[in-house]
Amino acid sequence: MSSSREIRLAARPQGEPKPSDFELAEVELPDPGPGELLVSNTFMSVDPYMRGRMNDMRSYVQPFEIGQPLDGGAVGEVIASEDERFAPGTHVLHQLGWRERAIVPADGARPIDPELAPASAYLGVLGMPGLTAYVGLLDIAGLRDGDIVFVSGAAGAVGSLVGQIAKVRGSRVIGSAGSAEKVAFIRDELGFDAAFDYHDGEVRALLAEAAPDGVDVYFDNVGGDHLEAALALMRQSGRIALCGAVSIYNATDPPPGPRTLPAAIGKRLTLRGFIVSDHFDRFPDFVRDVGGWLREGRIRYRETVVEGIENAPEAFIGLLRGENTGKMVVKLA
Ligand code: NDP
Repeated sequence: MSSSREIRLAARPQGEPKPSDFELAEVELPDPGPGELLVSNTFMSVDPYMRGRMNDMRSYVQPFEIGQPLDGGAVGEVIASEDERFAPGTHVLHQLGWRERAIVPADGARPIDPELAPASAYLGVLGMPGLTAYVGLLDIAGLRDGDIVFVSGAAGAVGSLVGQIAKVRGSRVIGSAGSAEKVAFIRDELGFDAAFDYHDGEVRALLAEAAPDGVDVYFDNVGGDHLEAALALMRQSGRIALCGAVSIYNATDPPPGPRTLPAAIGKRLTLRGFIVSDHFDRFPDFVRDVGGWLREGRIRYRETVVEGIENAPEAFIGLLRGENTGKMVVKLA
């Protein structure tokens, strides 16, 4: 037996989540059974998609249950193993985050190499958000030579990589983000060609100024007014990767769709939604390319680290408020 602490869903959030929507609980864990591992988590991920799982709604993932622990990506060290593929001391990526320790089915764990990159990177640039950026830009939007690329949420985990991959591929890249510091980060540190703070005016006017020749590829992390603006400024046969709509995840009364949608007809646009878990077959290519660009110093990443399981709800609430630059993670040990 060993003890752990975990975060449970106490109530379904109405609008923006509140600390009282979550509860911290102490639990005793059994010893691992056959095919199981006892893992001590070192970092866990908070991700925007978890907001949707807090609603009682059918989606591509099951909703979280009230009174039950939340789950999501985590990395940790195997403490005890009942599976011959994982020796104690192995560092693994798995899906039982939101807790300090977990009994993890070995089939749901993947070894990581903490020598190659810090363990937390496997939750961000070398993990699910990184693959989302890679697949969304290259496969879904089908990036072509010479494309002008616009990405929203550009200082976040996914957006910051989208812009950098597009730069590696020679594109002109425009990004939007929610503060002057984030704009400076993506322009001066990540090498975006232009960037704007979407609080500085109407998104359509800000984008028109930053992208006077229009946009071939829009990578949409935000939805709402960003999508409306991008549609208006897309060039002929442009492509939009619908990745996320974080601007409306907390909305109790979501706004109607983009008024500029008819522009997609005359401009022969393609709008394509995607879910990263359908594209895990691209993982080896992603690790080869993004891992290589990281090693060569052509790609950088940042993390915002919150400490302690008890602060995980605040990290999640802060993520949806834009308190992160780069990937938001919670350090557990
Ligand atoms: P981020 O690191 O980008 O964090 C979320 C960011 O959203 C915040 O930092 C904040 O940045 C921004 N934001 C919050 N409210 C608003 C708003 N009203 N308008 C504009 N921006 C806002 O998260 P991720 O990189 O993990 O995820 C980015 C997007 O990708 C999300 O929509 C997510 O759901 C989606 N996603 C989709 C996947 C898929 O398979 N389709 C997989 C993974 C992620 P700021 O300060 O700039 O406002």
